[in-house]
Amino acid sequence: MANKKYDLIIIGGGPAAIAAGIYAARAKINTLIIAKTFGGQMTRKTVSIENYPGFKSISGADLVKKFVEHLQEYNVKIVSDSTGVIKKIGKTFSVKTAHEGWFDAMAVIVASGADPRPLEVPGEKEFIGRGVSYCTACDAPIFADKAVAVIGGGNSGFEAALALTKYAKKIYILEYAAEVKAEESNINLAQKSKKIKIMTSVEVKKILGDKFVSSVEYQNRRTGQAAALDVQGVFVEIGSIPATGFVKDLVDFNERDEIIIDSRTCATKTAGLFAAGDVTDVQYKQIGIAAGEGVKALFSVANYLRK
Ligand SMILES: Cc1cc2nc3c(=O)[nH]c(=O)nc-3n(C[C@H](O)[C@H](O)[C@H](O)COP(=O)(O)OP(=O)(O)OC[C@H]3O[C@@H](n4cnc5c(N)ncnc54)[C@H](O)[C@@H]3O)c2cc1C
Repeated sequence: MANKKYDLIIIGGGPAAIAAGIYAARAKINTLIIAKTFGGQMTRKTVSIENYPGFKSISGADLVKKFVEHLQEYNVKIVSDSTGVIKKIGKTFSVKTAHEGWFDAMAVIVASGADPRPLEVPGEKEFIGRGVSYCTACDAPIFADKAVAVIGGGNSGFEAALALTKYAKKIYILEYAAEVKAEESNINLAQKSKKIKIMTSVEVKKILGDKFVSSVEYQNRRTGQAAALDVQGVFVEIGSIPATGFVKDLVDFNERDEIIIDSRTCATKTAGLFAAGDVTDVQYKQIGIAAGEGVKALFSVANYLRK
């Protein structure tokens, strides 16, 4: 059977993909969106979003709902599936999904965002779902009255720790570097909290437990001393890995494995293949930026298809 054909396939379900989808529908471009999930990183947001224009304060879940409702106002075909491969044969892209097979298009926008970066220490994989988590929004209530470690002293780590103060009795923020690197307001809030202890120059070595996590072994990088913390939960907040496995041969990557794009157009090195949002080397990663990059990519697609 011949592959189903579209003008454009958008890969992703975060703000970049959804914004591109809305603009594509309004430009009457025959579009398919392939999304593993909808909402992307906004669904991991543990405190309310307070910097997306038009909303003084809104939860990640509510903002996702509004994005998806807006998209569904238009006639855009959506497939809930994971993209496995993209090939370009002549001028046509063929995109394979895990369950729904192959789809063809003249242009593709990759807006597949990023996934949490694992810590890669012994015990991490074994205790996923048994104390180790990458999603404070999903798992914080499990740790009511427990002690937890948040690995990573960046903004995500601080946000996770602040969200956990509603549940956990003690929260250790463990930062590898000599200084934390979060927004001043988050650092101030954490310093004021009696529940949060910020520890720097800490290298986590091992996560230990039996049925559930019971402690974290670490080394103090200043003194070289080994020590352990009794915790029942470990939240890993050390950055992200762009989701690009399916597009390896068609694009170039920077040192962070982000897709290199022309910042004026979102074009990649392959004609007709565009990328937008956190999966790219765009300098700053925010919802507003991802949505704007999705719109930019769509205008470039419209130009490309016209030619
Ligand atoms: C904890 C946290 C808090 C944040 N807080 C804020 C904030 O307050 N304000 C703000 O502006 N920004 C915030 N951000 C950043 C913001 O969420 C991201 O910059 C934004 O979501 C990036 O959008 P995106 O569309 O590029 O990718 P993502 O949001 O990562 O979405 C990618 C989508 O692609 C899908 N996908 C991935 N691989 C495939 C595949 N192979 N096939 C099909 N689909 C696939 C995923 O399922 C997902 O739906 C926060 C991020 C985090 C992690």
